[in-house]
Amino acid sequence: MLSNALIIDDDLDVQLLGKMLLRQRGYNVQTASSFGELARQPSLLNTELILLDLGLGEFTGLDILDYLDDLRLNASILLISSCSKETAADVIAIGEAKGLRMLGFIPKNRLLTDLKTFLEPLKNALKAPTQEELASAIRSKQFFLMYQPKQDLKQRQVIGVEALVRWQDPERGLLSPDSFIPLAEQSGLMVPLTWLVLELALAQQAKWQARGWSLNVAINIPAAFIQSEGMLEAFDRLTQHHGALLSNITLELTESVGVECLGYACHVLKALQQRGCQLSLDDFGTGYSSLSQLHRLPFNELKIDRSFVSSIDQDKDALAITASIIDLGKRLGLKIVAEGIETMAQHTLLVEAGCTVGQGHYFARPLTAADFDAWFSEYLPTAPTPQQQSMLSCCKAF
Ligand code: C2E
Ligand code: MG
Ligand code: MG
Repeated sequence: MLSNALIIDDDLDVQLLGKMLLRQRGYNVQTASSFGELARQPSLLNTELILLDLGLGEFTGLDILDYLDDLRLNASILLISSCSKETAADVIAIGEAKGLRMLGFIPKNRLLTDLKTFLEPLKNALKAPTQEELASAIRSKQFFLMYQPKQDLKQRQVIGVEALVRWQDPERGLLSPDSFIPLAEQSGLMVPLTWLVLELALAQQAKWQARGWSLNVAINIPAAFIQSEGMLEAFDRLTQHHGALLSNITLELTESVGVECLGYACHVLKALQQRGCQLSLDDFGTGYSSLSQLHRLPFNELKIDRSFVSSIDQDKDALAITASIIDLGKRLGLKIVAEGIETMAQHTLLVEAGCTVGQGHYFARPLTAADFDAWFSEYLPTAPTPQQQSMLSCCKAF
């Protein structure tokens, strides 16, 4: 698989030379000449390597470092500039203090000669993780969770969060689930990984509980976990240990869980629900036999896949499918959650179609626990409590 690289520079000569040198080394190269171009095309930042010029129109490389930091970007950043060594060292120190992966500095006139020395060590880091590395990372708990708020669309209140796992690999940096979940699935490591995720999520929920924040935490659960031996007993021990309120736990299952959920696994899901856990059918509409899953298993919630949500404001068919899913879910008495809401237009259309809960970059990106705490503390005083909300509706009635 090709690695992606991005050159951020308004100097066309550097763009051309950089492109040529990186392509020779097997990179798929994109370029951006301005900060505006990056903001318009966020997909450019899905990259492993960034060659960054320090001065871009009215924005400096420091502005861009701030921007990359806000996105918690994991790319390695190599400065290319005509600035002095001292200035570059200062910028590198600032980037490192933010936790960004700063590779170093090349003066523009040395790009041709110096680039390869920086690319060589990257080769190893870019290698896909092996099964042994993943198993050892799970044992040494190199994972942490990010939390993305789930919001009541009408009352604009946060009702909970989805826990999303990240691997902080000492060599490769921050890895997203796409780069290790398929490996975990193939190598039977989903079960220990899910126990670790549950442990982290319950510990965090207990901290929020101690502050008086009652937040429902949704955890992604794979089929292998549900089918694993002794799962219910171990789940009871773990939840008791953390003093978890089971009605505040949502288990997000993908449609494949339903497909594989026969006999024993079906019994486990029902037992979890009887304990108070909410069952959510994740990524609805993408798998097969979705409707039979809804019929066979006692779900409480249905999450509309973001592939529909992302196009409802441009594609009439996507809107029609989404509205039908919402209607179907309502008839079945389910809570309907739309995931991947990015724009106000999508938000408005979903509310009009009767969707009650939403999640997506429009409200907040996945946040670290510390960032979530800061975000939620700011958010709390402005959001009306249910009591305030009912007072407001009384006032409106008069
Ligand atoms: P998912 O459960 O459907 O999670 C939602 C994904 O959508 C997350 O990606 C989230 O960051 C992303 N997302 C949320 N809002 C937006 C938006 O507005 N726009 C766009 N473009 N994306 C948005 P993430 O964190 O990369 O997770 C991807 C998938 O990896 C998850 O999909 C889930 O299937 C799996 N995953 C993540 N964490 C865990 C975990 O702890 N256990 C298991 N078994 N799977 C996990
Ligand atoms: Mg999910
Ligand atoms: Mg989903």
